Amino acid sequence: MPSEFEVIARYFTRPARTAMLGVGDDCALVRVPADLALAVTTDLLVEGTHFVSDTDPEKLGHKALAVNLSDLAAMGADPRWATLSLVLPEADEAWLEGFARGLFELADRFGVELIGGDTTRGPRAVSITALGTLPPGLALRRDGARESEDMWLSGNTGDAALGLAHLKGRVKLPDAALRHCLARLETPRPLVELGRRLRGIASSAIDVSDGLVADLGHVLERSGVGAEVWLEQLPRSRAIAECTDAKLARECLLGGGDDYELLFTAPQQRRAAVFTLAAEVGLPLTRIGRTVFGTPVVSVLDDAGRPVSPGPGGYDHFRD
Ligand code: ADP
Ligand code: MG
Repeated sequence: MPSEFEVIARYFTRPARTAMLGVGDDCALVRVPADLALAVTTDLLVEGTHFVSDTDPEKLGHKALAVNLSDLAAMGADPRWATLSLVLPEADEAWLEGFARGLFELADRFGVELIGGDTTRGPRAVSITALGTLPPGLALRRDGARESEDMWLSGNTGDAALGLAHLKGRVKLPDAALRHCLARLETPRPLVELGRRLRGIASSAIDVSDGLVADLGHVLERSGVGAEVWLEQLPRSRAIAECTDAKLARECLLGGGDDYELLFTAPQQRRAAVFTLAAEVGLPLTRIGRTVFGTPVVSVLDDAGRPVSPGPGGYDHFRD
C-alpha cells in the first residue's frame, strides 16, 4: 500500500501552470491580479451523510469539485485554483485512481489547478476549497435583490432529488427518467459560464443546492425583500412531469436539493439581456416569479394567484 506521500505524489501532484508554486511546499503561492478579488469557497462531503460507501469514486471526484465550482459560478467568479483535503480509511489505489480521474477531468475542463491539500486516515470524507477571481464590484451577492425585480431560474429543479427518491425506494422511475435523474444527482454540471456572464445583469444569485424555496429564502433574508414564485411557471423535466407520484414530484421541484442550477434576480429592464444571454450560453432561463416589498418569505402561488404550501423545506444537517 502506498504511503501518504506516495499517494500525494502519484495521484494529486501535477506541474504548476498558473500558480507560482503548487503541491509540495508548506503553502502554494498564487498571484491575484491587483484589480480582482479572490472568491473562496469550501464544501465538505462526508461518507454516510453526503454519499454512500459504494459511490463510484470517479463520480465522487467530479461531484466534490463540481459543488465548489457551482458556488464560484453563483458568485460570478472565474474558477482558478483548488485545494483538496482527503480523509481515507486506506490508500485504496483503484479508488484513488478513479477519484483523481473524475476530479481532474472536471478541473481541466474549467482550467482549475489543484495546488495543495491534506491527506489523512479516518472515516472517508472529501473537502475541496475552490478559489476564483472576479472584479469585486460585480460579485453576485445574496444581498443584492431589490423589490419588483424578476426572479430567474436556469434549467429546472427536482431531478437530483427525484433520483435520490428512487434510490431510497420512495418511487420507481422508468429507465430513461432514472438515467437522467441519476446523472444529475451524481455528476452535476457547474454553470460557470452562466455565472460569469451574469455579472452586471443579475442583482443577486445563489446556486440551488438545498432546494429552490430554501435557497431563495437565503437570498430574501440577506436582501430584505419578499418573493412570489409561480408554481405553474416552474420548468419541469420529463422525469418530473411524468412522475406517477405528483406530490413527490412537487416536493422535489420546490424542495429537492443537489440541482446546482442558478437562481438569480435582475431588474425588469434587464429582461432582454437575460433572454439574449440564455441563447448565447445555450441554457433555458425561465422567469419563475418576482421579488416583492415586505418580509423575507417565499409565497408559492398557483395559476389563480392563490398561495400553495411549499412543502418540506431545505435540508438542515442538525435537524433532518
Ligand atoms: P504539511 O505537513 O505542511 O501539512 P503535507 O505533508 O500534509 O504538508 O503535504 C505536503 C504537500 O502536499 C503540501 O504541499 C500539501 O498542500 C500537498 N497535499 C497534501 N495532500 C494533498 C491532496 N490530497 N491533494 C493535493 N495536494 C495535497
Ligand atoms: Mg498536512
